[in-house]
Amino acid sequence: MSFDRRKLLKGFAAVGAGAAASALPAEASPPKPEVPPDAFGMLYDATRCIGCRACVTACKNANGLPGNLYDPPEDLSGDTKNIIKVYDHGKTDESYVKAQCMHCLDPACARACMIGALQKREFGIVTYDPERCIGCRYCQVACPYEIPKFQWDTPTPVIVKCELCHHRISKETGKPMPACCEVCPREAVISGDYRELLAEAERRIAENPERYWPAGSPKIYGKTDGGGTQVLYLAAVDFEKLGLPELGEAPAGYEAAEIQHTVYQGFIAPVALYGLLGAVLWKNRRSAEKKEEE
Ligand code: SF4
Ligand code: SF4
Ligand code: SF4
Repeated sequence: MSFDRRKLLKGFAAVGAGAAASALPAEASPPKPEVPPDAFGMLYDATRCIGCRACVTACKNANGLPGNLYDPPEDLSGDTKNIIKVYDHGKTDESYVKAQCMHCLDPACARACMIGALQKREFGIVTYDPERCIGCRYCQVACPYEIPKFQWDTPTPVIVKCELCHHRISKETGKPMPACCEVCPREAVISGDYRELLAEAERRIAENPERYWPAGSPKIYGKTDGGGTQVLYLAAVDFEKLGLPELGEAPAGYEAAEIQHTVYQGFIAPVALYGLLGAVLWKNRRSAEKKEEE
């Protein structure tokens, strides 16, 4: 992304400070998000990952996205939903790390999208509906993990992010089959019921406590971070070094989204604004599609 998300958020906060201060409740503490009863998720254990990137290729194949193993992508993008990055700072401080949507329990992206293009749905999966999306990209600004990507290079761009392969439902189990997990040779990334994954992460820590960070009291990232996520992480290295931000236990992005809503209350009804934006973008999209047909 070319813009600086922090600066943009600062901008939102500055513009809306007056309105927000008067409209936000005195103690706006977000409610603790609940784990959906059918929550499905992933567990990525960086200590098992060998960086083969089979998961990256499988993700592209399962989602009809271009690219191949001989030219691995460097970051998430309009055609990459899953990436393996390398953190390398000496022999004792190195790790691979997988990045994709975290499927937050209280997703800031969905909170920011007033059109409902992003929604937390069956299995707690945060899904995206391109038919509803008006391309405002507020979801990009709100996401604390910088996951949603925009297809800048197509005339009909959409937002791209992992949807936990919810289009690949097993006939046997009735549950999603994430392609990245199917191909991992080391069970470094596995999928399943969220509660079982949490138990598996705890089991791995109990069996090998010295293997995980931080020493003495290993942590499962995502258990409570940012309000909790349905994708959980184990690692031997400080999670922040791996690009997983320290967020605290409150739902991430709550404040930004609340301020954003408040700012708009002060200027123009959000529905009217989005209606206008929607009309403009729909018109642009249609003329681009017409051009393509011609
Ligand atoms: S990681 Fe970002 S895109 Fe994914 S659910 Fe959370 S806020 Fe949304
Ligand atoms: S769950 Fe599916 S879309 Fe998400 S990273 Fe894995 S393969 Fe890609
Ligand atoms: S397939 Fe498994 S071992 Fe290979 S890079 Fe992906 S998570 Fe790591």
